[in-house]
Amino acid sequence: MMNIVLFGPPGAGKGTQAERIMNQFNLTHLSTGDIFRENIKKETSLGIAAKSFIDKGELVPDEVTIKMLESEVKSHPESDGFIFDGFPRTVQQASALDAFLNSIDTSITKMIALDVPEKELIKRLLARGKYSGRADDLDANIIANRIHVYLEKTAVLADYYNKQKKHFSVNGLGSIDDITNRVFKELEK
Ligand code: ADP
Repeated sequence: MMNIVLFGPPGAGKGTQAERIMNQFNLTHLSTGDIFRENIKKETSLGIAAKSFIDKGELVPDEVTIKMLESEVKSHPESDGFIFDGFPRTVQQASALDAFLNSIDTSITKMIALDVPEKELIKRLLARGKYSGRADDLDANIIANRIHVYLEKTAVLADYYNKQKKHFSVNGLGSIDDITNRVFKELEK
C-alpha cells in the first residue's frame, strides 16, 4: 500500500494536486474538507456539528474528525492506498492516524508538503472565493484565521514527519503541471 499525506497551508493547492496523484498512482483521495462540505450540504449530524467551526475558519474538533476519517478508510477495503488531503491537521490527528494505520497493518509512506508563501495563499484563496461558493474563502478575516490556525496547530506536523524521515518539501509555486511533476518525482523516488 502507498499512503500519502499531502500537506500545506490553506490555498497551497492540495486538492488540485491530490486529484492528479490519485489518478497516477491509483489511490483513494480522502479530503476531510470535501467530506465535511458534502455532509453540510446533506445536513447530516456530522455536517451540522462541523459547520459552525468551518464557517469561522476554526478546526473541527479532533474527536469528530478522527472518527470520520477512520470510517472513510474502512469503507474502502479494496483500496491500493490513500492520499490524505487536509488530514492530519494536529499532532493528535497525526498520532491517531499512525495508530489506526498500524492496526490495519499499514503506515504512512511519505508526507509531501507544498511550500507556498503566505502572500500568494491569500491571493489564491480570495480568487477561489469568487467561484468556489465557499463562504470561508470570501472573507479576508476568515482566511487570515485559517492561516493563523495552520501556523499555530498544523505547521508543527512538519517536525512530526521529519522525525520519522517521511517529510518531503515541494515548491508549490509555478504552473500546476510543473508542481505535479515535482510531486511525482518525489513519489517515484
Ligand atoms: P483549506 O485547506 O483550503 O483551508 P479544506 O477544504 O481542507 O480547506 O478545509 C476546510 C475547513 O474544514 C477547515 O478550515 C476546517 O474548518 C475543516 N477541516 C478540514 N480538515 C480538517 C481536519 N483535519 N481537522 C479539523 N478540521 C478540518
